[in-house]
Amino acid sequence: MEEKDRENQQELQSGREDGDTKDEQEYEKICYICRRPESKAGNMIVMPGNMCLCHDCMQKAFDSVIGGNMDLSKIDFSQLSGMPFMNMNFVPPQRGEGEPPSMQIPKSQKVKKRKADAGPGFELKDIPAPHEIKRRLDKYVIGQERAKKVVSVAVYNHYKRVYSEGMKKAGKKADDKAEDVTIEKSNILMIGPTGSGKTYLVRTLARLLDVPLAIADATSLTEAGYIGDDIESVVSKLLAAAGNDVDRAEHGIIFIDEIDKIAKKRETNTRDVSGESVQQELLKLLEGSRVEVPVGSNQKNALTPLKTVNTDHILFICGGAFPDLERIIRERLNKASSIGFGAELKDKYQEDPNILSHVTNKDLREFGMIPEFLGRLPVTVTLEKLTKNLLVQILKEPRNAILKQYVRLLEMDEVKLVFEDEALEWIAQEALTRDTGARALRAILEEYMLDIMYEIPKDPNIGSVVVTRPYLEKRGGPLIQMRG
Ligand code: ADP
Repeated sequence: MEEKDRENQQELQSGREDGDTKDEQEYEKICYICRRPESKAGNMIVMPGNMCLCHDCMQKAFDSVIGGNMDLSKIDFSQLSGMPFMNMNFVPPQRGEGEPPSMQIPKSQKVKKRKADAGPGFELKDIPAPHEIKRRLDKYVIGQERAKKVVSVAVYNHYKRVYSEGMKKAGKKADDKAEDVTIEKSNILMIGPTGSGKTYLVRTLARLLDVPLAIADATSLTEAGYIGDDIESVVSKLLAAAGNDVDRAEHGIIFIDEIDKIAKKRETNTRDVSGESVQQELLKLLEGSRVEVPVGSNQKNALTPLKTVNTDHILFICGGAFPDLERIIRERLNKASSIGFGAELKDKYQEDPNILSHVTNKDLREFGMIPEFLGRLPVTVTLEKLTKNLLVQILKEPRNAILKQYVRLLEMDEVKLVFEDEALEWIAQEALTRDTGARALRAILEEYMLDIMYEIPKDPNIGSVVVTRPYLEKRGGPLIQMRG
């Protein structure tokens, strides 16, 4: 028995050592004080408590204590192992019971090392085909058929491009026909009313593809030097989402919401520079450039280590509601049809609910987007305003539909929850009046479900609850049935 224990112990030990070595190959230490990584600051001195310090900071620390009379190169750091543990709010990692704090460096003090031209990091067959991407999206995103199709193709092409560029860099050929054709980036511009599912579509996409995602708000972005987040902060957000793994971040997705808010102002006599200059500054990120971003923070300062991220393989999706764009499109279409033979068709676009799908770059330029910016978003996707039927479907059909969530919650109390079809229609109709798309659904349900969720668990004899239209219209209560 003892023998077996010993063997197990040894196995465990060797496993850990393997893990540690693998970790060392993949990660590099960062200095506790100046936050620079080993590749920038040189070898680290590991202090008791697994705190890493670079030689420069160590020297500065000695200089400040003894007035600069000590030469660091003459100190034998191995003798420092008996130094009392320095508590600088730093908790050493706890490993197996009874083990002394090991020399393993915690993740907060390490960043991942870059692999030199190791290829794209995935195989061509790992990229799901467009129909497969769409099939997976269908389980979550209701309606928006064309948008899902366009996005699936754009994403498929994007990762094929990443693959072929990665192979080229590694000196390999993606396939026999891989000549010098450079595939251009397929960044996406997503236009659709509030609550039509823009963010949700991108979030679902990133989750299905298992790539990191950063969501930023264009209104918070400012030119470098102004108060607000500078443009590069979106890349550091992505790096954080990728667990500070630069390779993973470089294959991720950045979604910049409210992009319409950085349009140039129209019809003003004064020159408006703020929105336009943010668009200008975004250009280099969108087309691909190497940016130095702080690790673990969105602000550059002396205390955060910097990592270089190449945005060339990052898929950028910019989204916005573009209010007033419909009027611009309508005016253009009406003008075109009022000239010549089509004159009688004037105003036929007045009632078209899908007017956004006719958008052209010219309309977007008139809206205030600069041509260079539009040029870097070659794929335009429009999302439709959700109809009452689609809203009903959103309530009950997606994998994580809101109704399914409420049903599950009450199921835990062994209570069956049912929604009458008429009640669902009422909720969808009410959501339409609020004009915030599917976003209103949750708000409405929360309002009406509060009493039910509060009262039902009070009485263990309740077996089922039916949410009816009269209850929602405040003309009665929900139908309640007792057990047995
Ligand atoms: P926006 O277009 O303003 O970015 P969101 O994507 O944030 O809208 O949508 C808000 C919420 O509404 C989402 O979290 C999602 O639950 C729901 N939703 C919106 N559109 C759809 C859709 N087409 N299918 C399923 N759920 C949707």
